[in-house]
Amino acid sequence: MDGAALAARLREEIKHEVAELGHVGLATVLVGDDPASDVYIRLKHKAADEAGIEAIDHRLPATTTEDDLVELVQHLHEDDFVDGILVQTPLPDQIDEARVMLAIDPMKDVDGLHPFSAGQLFLGSQTLVPATPLGVMHLVNEYTIPITGARAVVVGRSILVGKPMAMLLLQANATVTICHSRTEDLARHTLDADLLVAAVGLPGVITADMVKQGATVIDVGITRTEAGLVGDVEADVAERAAFLTPVPGGVGPMTIAALLGNAVRAARYRRGQLAFPRI
Ligand code: NAP
Repeated sequence: MDGAALAARLREEIKHEVAELGHVGLATVLVGDDPASDVYIRLKHKAADEAGIEAIDHRLPATTTEDDLVELVQHLHEDDFVDGILVQTPLPDQIDEARVMLAIDPMKDVDGLHPFSAGQLFLGSQTLVPATPLGVMHLVNEYTIPITGARAVVVGRSILVGKPMAMLLLQANATVTICHSRTEDLARHTLDADLLVAAVGLPGVITADMVKQGATVIDVGITRTEAGLVGDVEADVAERAAFLTPVPGGVGPMTIAALLGNAVRAARYRRGQLAFPRI
C-alpha cells in the first residue's frame, strides 16, 4: 500500500483548502532536544509550509517546568492567529503530559489528545482524532479494504495510536481485538485478523506465521536501526498478506497528511464552517 503516493495527493487537496481559507496557523511545541522528535517536528513544518499552512515553531529547553509549558499552551490557546496546537510527545519526566493536554483548547487539539477529543471518539462522534490512526483509515478506505464485519486486531494500546485506532475500526463496524504487552499467545489473536495493525515499536514482533493468508497488514511501527527505519512486521509477511504497508513510505507520510488535514479541520471549526460540539 503506497502511503507516500496517497499522502502526496491528500496534501495537494489540503493546499487548495488552505488557499481557500486564506490563513491556517499551526503552532508546534517541542520541549528538549530529543533527535527523533526534532526530525518529526521538522517534517511536519516542511509539510505545513508546502501546504501553505503557517507553522510556528516553539522550542523550549529540556529543563522547562510544567507551569511554564502550560502557560505557553494557554497563550497559544488565546492566540487568534493559531488554529492548531501540537505539543510533541514524549515530554521530559518533570512534566505531566495529561495536564498539558488539558490546557489545549479542544477546538485546536490537532493531535486529538485532549480528553474531550478522546471522549468524542469514544462516543462515536469524533472531532479531532490522532493523525496516525486517521491516516491508516484513509489508506484502508483508499484501497477499499472491507471493514464492516471484518475481524480487526490492533497490537498496541497507546493513547496516540492503538486505542484511537481500535475506536475508529469499531466505529467502522469491524469486530476489534486489542493486544498489548501482557497478551498471552499473541499469534492466536493475530492469526484471526482480516485486518492487522501493528503499533508496537518492536522490529519483527509480527512474523509471517502470525498472519492469515490474504490479510491486510498495517505496519505503524518505526524503529531506527543502523540499516535505517524498520517497522514491526517481518519482510516475509508480504508473502501471506494481500495488502501491506512499507516502512518507510506507508503510515509515516499518511500521519503527516492527516495532521495537516486536522489543522484545516480545526481552522474550519474556528471559523464556524464546521459545527463543534458545545462544551
Ligand atoms: P507506545 O506508547 O510505546 O506503545 C506501544 C504498545 O505496544 C503498548 O501498548 C505496549 O503494550 C505494546 N507492546 C509492547 N511490547 C509488546 C509485545 N511484545 N507484544 C504486544 N504488544 C506489545 O508506542 P506508540 O506511540 O503507540 O507507537 C508505536 C510504534 O509506532 C512506535 O514504533 C512508534 O515509533 C510508531 N509510530 C509511528 C507513527 C507513524 O507515523 N508511522 C506515528 C506514531 C507512532 P503495553 O500497553 O502493555 O505496554
